[in-house]
Amino acid sequence: KELTDINSLADEYLRLSYHGLRAKDKTFNAGLVTDFASDLEKLEVVPQDLGRVLLNLFNNAFYSVQQKQKTSEPGFKPQVTVSTKRIGDEVEIRVKDNGSGIPENIRHKILQPFFTTKPTGQGTGLGLSLSHDIIAKGHGGTLAIETKEGQFAEFIIRIPSKKEKE
Ligand code: ADP
Ligand code: MG
Repeated sequence: KELTDINSLADEYLRLSYHGLRAKDKTFNAGLVTDFASDLEKLEVVPQDLGRVLLNLFNNAFYSVQQKQKTSEPGFKPQVTVSTKRIGDEVEIRVKDNGSGIPENIRHKILQPFFTTKPTGQGTGLGLSLSHDIIAKGHGGTLAIETKEGQFAEFIIRIPSKKEKE
């Protein structure tokens, strides 16, 4: 583990994910919104592991808004938001998209390994199960989900961190 600037890491992977998708689909456009706590102290994490988690959350988010754009009215504006803040003894990172959300009947399955709703070749179904393990086992944190079908999905990472004395 190393002391890591979470805001820079999140910003870097947000852009990496977006540009990766845009490289394959030049017509795809999404609004990227960042809302970073400006006074966030560095956090003791495995940067490559947390980066993998963020990359998967962003890839999922962009995929969802891209799918929604294909099927919804022309006025739909895809948007992916990442925010950070300190809450008590934890640092919280939220990744939110305004895609179609997660249907009630599959919500209990999405953390299971190999569960995917994506066409063959587009998803392994391992992203969220791996992400959950990295956050829970690797960092003693939690991964929670808030979603409204048809409207949004939001993934909430919380990682414990004792604030260093000033
Ligand atoms: P994969 O991306 O390979 O399908 P994941 O473990 O990352 O595997 O995600 C599992 C499933 O959870 C996805 O196939 C999708 O059904 C659902 N899911 C994940 N993120 C989102 C999201 N942001 N919006 C809607 N559904 C999602
Ligand atoms: Mg995924």
